[in-house]
Amino acid sequence: LDLPIHDAVLGDFAAHADVPALIDGLTGQSVSYAQLDGASRRCAAGLAEAGVRKGDRIALFSPNTVAYPIAFYGATRAGATVTTVSSLSTAAELAGQLRDSGARWIITISLFLPVATEAAKALAAEGSPVEEIFVCDQAEGHRSLADLLACTGPEPTPEIDPATDIAVLPYSSGTTGLPKGVMLSHRNISSNLLQTDAVHATGEGERILAVLPFFHIYGLTSLLNHPLRSGSTVVVLPRFDLEQFLRTIQDQRIEGVFAAPPIVLALAKHPLVDQYDLSSIRYVLSAAAPLDAELAATAARRLGLERIHQGYGMTELSPVTHVVPLDDPNPPAGTVGRLVASTELRVTALDGSGADLGVGERGELLFRGPQVMRGYFGRKSETDAMIDPDGWLHTGDVGVVDERGYLFVVDRVKELIKYKGYQVAPAELEALLLTHPEVADAAVIGVTGADGEERPKAFVVRTPGSGLTEQQVGDFVAGQVAPYKKVRAVEFIDQVPKSAAGKILRRQLRDRT
Ligand code: ATP
Ligand code: MG
Repeated sequence: LDLPIHDAVLGDFAAHADVPALIDGLTGQSVSYAQLDGASRRCAAGLAEAGVRKGDRIALFSPNTVAYPIAFYGATRAGATVTTVSSLSTAAELAGQLRDSGARWIITISLFLPVATEAAKALAAEGSPVEEIFVCDQAEGHRSLADLLACTGPEPTPEIDPATDIAVLPYSSGTTGLPKGVMLSHRNISSNLLQTDAVHATGEGERILAVLPFFHIYGLTSLLNHPLRSGSTVVVLPRFDLEQFLRTIQDQRIEGVFAAPPIVLALAKHPLVDQYDLSSIRYVLSAAAPLDAELAATAARRLGLERIHQGYGMTELSPVTHVVPLDDPNPPAGTVGRLVASTELRVTALDGSGADLGVGERGELLFRGPQVMRGYFGRKSETDAMIDPDGWLHTGDVGVVDERGYLFVVDRVKELIKYKGYQVAPAELEALLLTHPEVADAAVIGVTGADGEERPKAFVVRTPGSGLTEQQVGDFVAGQVAPYKKVRAVEFIDQVPKSAAGKILRRQLRDRT
């Protein structure tokens, strides 16, 4: 399957032309497969008429809506590269991404126009103005998606080379530094579609909930490319609100939930969960950040499921390398899954030698396969630091593989806290803290003392009404871990800062100390 992304996804829709491809979870508005296909073709014609040419970058700055894939596949059909923008972006952040990606068109929604306009002004002042800002809904002075669809010009037929042409330029989450533009070719995306389809196929007419953002690679593939390829119905919500999320699952009889750890945390611990009929759910998949096995088991039990399935990936890997197959009868607790097809994995020593390690040994994860990105856009040295001359991508993640081939992700190399020659994984301490009944959420960072040693510090959110003390938190951890892993400082906070994709923003915690 070496196709342009829109053909890989929509090439075969005839068998389910009248099935709803998308339903707006709030308004009930729906778009059938025939409508999605037709509209994305007209959108491509409209964009071409507006001047978009092959290779141009288009910034898609929108929350999840039923129009999102029309704009997305419209742009790729026009031969453009879509750079997906976080819907939480400020004008300065959007301007930064426009500058970095060289995008000269913006597709947004009326609500986001003030931000988009301010960003466009900043670029105009620098002498590299944006050509046009389109809105998916309606706004005075701007062409709408309906205007683009109404154009009478021919559908463009750009010659796309799946191996080298860039379909999407998503930005990495910026968890460890500044977000980087990740060049994913049509082949990268379509290969990964096939690789995951083999173990995690969604079915025709199956109802999938899209609450994770489409702009992040996890949402883009698991909630658009993947289900739309198989004729599933994607129920769209613009953001995560627990009540809205639970009500939508109940009312829309959702079968498949793609989640991140904060959602699983809510499913495990929040009292509201019991007030809804969630019996339609057949599976919940969690990825993007470490998930504690015990927490996952609690959530699964509450939903009447055998388990929460995990997957692992990163933007640079289009994004999946591991997933627990849906029909796996007996995966070990806490695993992120098994390696997908046509992908090679190495685990290498963290001592600087880079020596290959074996089963049961912790090391850095390296991958090679058709889903490895083409590189970071405009960042050759960073690309070379990430992908070695033999094509191995160095993830910066620490993991261990068991004798059956199941991967366990420990944490990021950079997050490991170094204390007296030992390494402490924040994710392990966070998981432990979450098992305390009065801990609603937790995050751990390393704080460097006057002696140059890093020591674990825990930020803890207490459950309502809890009188838990710092001493009790420290004792709870100390009672269950080796002495070097003890939490040396505790601070109570109201909320753990997390990204839209569910990652703990440790930099914000570091800034507090
Ligand atoms: P940046 O690269 O900009 O610092 P980021 O690495 O968070 O940000 P993403 O590409 O969105 O950006 O996230 C990929 C990372 O998410 C992986 O490298 C890994 O650390 C983490 N991750 C993904 N899935 C899992 C999982 N199942 N368990 C633990 N960690 C995971
Ligand atoms: Mg990363």
